[in-house]
Amino acid sequence: MPSHVAVYPGSFDPVTYGHLDIIQRGLQVFDKIVVAVARNSEKNALFTIDERLEMIREAVGNEPRLELDTFDGLLVDYVVSRESRVILRGLRAVSDFEYEFQIAQMNHTVQEKVETLFMMTSVPYGYLSSSIVKEVASLKGPVDSFVPPVVKKALEKKFGPTKSSP
Ligand code: ADP
Repeated sequence: MPSHVAVYPGSFDPVTYGHLDIIQRGLQVFDKIVVAVARNSEKNALFTIDERLEMIREAVGNEPRLELDTFDGLLVDYVVSRESRVILRGLRAVSDFEYEFQIAQMNHTVQEKVETLFMMTSVPYGYLSSSIVKEVASLKGPVDSFVPPVVKKALEKKFGPTKSSP
C-alpha cells in the first residue's frame, strides 16, 4: 500500500490550538503529515520562520509521523517534490470557503495530480485564528485557551504580560 503523506501548508504566525487540532486529527487519517511554513509569509509576520517552526516543534513534541519544513514558490510543486498528492487545509466559517475554493481550484488546474482535502474545524476553534490571537495578546487579553504555553510566552515577549483566562 502506498504511504499517504499530506502537506499541511500555512503561515502559522503563530500556531494555535486550531492548527494543532487539524494536525492531530490529520495524523489519524494520513501516515505522515508535513507541516510546511510558507516562506512568502515572512513579510508582515510577527514571528520569524524559525520562531514559528520552533513553536510548532515544541507544541507537538516528539511525533515521528510529523515533519516540519518550509517552502517557497508554487505549493503544488513543493507537494509533488515531497512525494505527496494531498494538500490538507482547515475550514472554519463560511468566510474561509471562497478563498480556499479559489486557491484549491487554481492548484488543481496547475497540477491535477494534487488534491486539496479540507478538514472542518472542531467546534471550540471555529472562531480561532492567528490574527485574532495576536490582536488579543496585543491588548493584553487572555490567550491560554487559544495557544499552547510556548506560544503564550513568545506573545508575552512581544506584547508584555497577558491576563489569565477567568
Ligand atoms: P494561511 O495564511 O495559509 O491561511 P494559516 O496559518 O492562517 O495560514 O492557516 C493554515 C491552515 O490552518 C489553513 O487551512 C487554515 O484554514 C487552517 N486553520 C487555521 N486556524 C484554524 C482553526 N481554528 N480551525 C481549523 N483550521 C484552522
